[in-house]
Amino acid sequence: MNADLHCHSVISDGTLQPEALAERAKANGVELWALTDHDELAGQLRARNAAAAVGLPWLSGCEISVTFADTTVHIVGLGFDIDNAALRDGLAATRGGRHARAVAMSDGLARAGVRDAYQGALKYVGNPELISRTHFARFLVESKVCADTQAVFRKYLVEGKPGYVPHRWASLRDAVHWIVDAGGLAVIAHPARYRFTANEEYALFTEFIAHGGRGVEVVTGSHSSAEAVRYAETALEFDLLASRGSDFHSPEESHVDLGKLPALPAALKPVWDALEAHILQPA
Ligand code: AMP
Ligand code: MN
Ligand code: MN
Ligand code: MN
Repeated sequence: MNADLHCHSVISDGTLQPEALAERAKANGVELWALTDHDELAGQLRARNAAAAVGLPWLSGCEISVTFADTTVHIVGLGFDIDNAALRDGLAATRGGRHARAVAMSDGLARAGVRDAYQGALKYVGNPELISRTHFARFLVESKVCADTQAVFRKYLVEGKPGYVPHRWASLRDAVHWIVDAGGLAVIAHPARYRFTANEEYALFTEFIAHGGRGVEVVTGSHSSAEAVRYAETALEFDLLASRGSDFHSPEESHVDLGKLPALPAALKPVWDALEAHILQPA
């Protein structure tokens, strides 16, 4: 099945509207789709309606920012009730610090000679509650400070660089509980991205499972094929369900388009088998 269960709209740090993503997913042959904006459900109803309009089976989704072992980890939630109050409140609290963080990022960039970055980033923000590093990256590309967003991250926006501001996101426990208590399935997003030691990674997986987490992304636009092989083994080792998603943000920036991913390795149990009752089938 061509499931794509990870992507972003203008409601977080993508560049397309939810309706355009649904159309693009359908055109690319996606057979099951979830929009997983960072820390925010404001696009979910639009995604659901747009999926129905183009005849695309749909799951609710989000990607929650978590701090674990002093590192930012992303937890994807799938198939939850989009009206669940505790989940909505938890996400509102998680995104609450973004404004102050963005102002501090802008101050750091100013000290490095990049002026008015906050105002510049705001031009790219679709949702005032969700200003992210990606929006700063787009402004620095526009200002010709760097050639592309990858270079901006490398030179300005990762730990140790002038625009990086440490931030405490949700706890792993809270994020998994919000998703599970709202009837959804929690998934560790793109595990290869965290650069954990073996011990830290073991702690992440065991604590995630202890809190009720059940899935891990194996095939994602954020993994190389070697990383997908490695995390297929991890999924088997921890008896986790496997997920698949492009992490598509933008036609201009993303290397992997919606639905344009290798299949999940056959030995794995896909998350969608456990989510059948949560899928909204088009009429
Ligand atoms: P934030 O939630 O504000 O910390 O921004 C995180 C987002 O920045 C991620 O969801 C990605 O979309 C983007 N991002 C993180 N690292 C990189 C990178 N090295 N290159 C390009 N985009 C990145
Ligand atoms: Mn993002
Ligand atoms: Mn992510
Ligand atoms: Mn993502």
